[in-house]
Amino acid sequence: MTAQDTIFGKIIRKEIPADIVYEDDLALAFKDVSPQAPVHILVIPKKPIPKLADASSEDKALMGHLLLTAKKVAEEAGLTNGYRTVINTGSDGGQTVYHLHIHILGGRQMKWPPG
Ligand code: AMP
Repeated sequence: MTAQDTIFGKIIRKEIPADIVYEDDLALAFKDVSPQAPVHILVIPKKPIPKLADASSEDKALMGHLLLTAKKVAEEAGLTNGYRTVINTGSDGGQTVYHLHIHILGGRQMKWPPG
């Protein structure tokens, strides 16, 4: 199974609906279907990288683009007081969808350490 076969691949191809808040040639951002904070948005690459551990040096510019996209999306969501960005990687990281994604969580006080 490739990353394009994940639920996020289907969202990229517009085969299933999502509440998309940002899109360009390289990235897509949409609201998490099970929000863990008042604002919970996922930023994903259109390239099917399953997880951060699979990113390579050829993805250097793309990875930078994803972080700057997360910043822009957070600004547009009005998170002027800060926010949490999370990348869950693999089994121990709690990753459930194997298409690389950055969580943006905001609108409430975050705690540390995370669970
Ligand atoms: P992770 O556990 O880091 O792999 O995060 C996967 C995230 O994807 C979870 O927060 C889910 O709520 C979210 N998710 C799963 N399916 C969808 C979907 N169809 N639309 C939006 N978010 C989704």
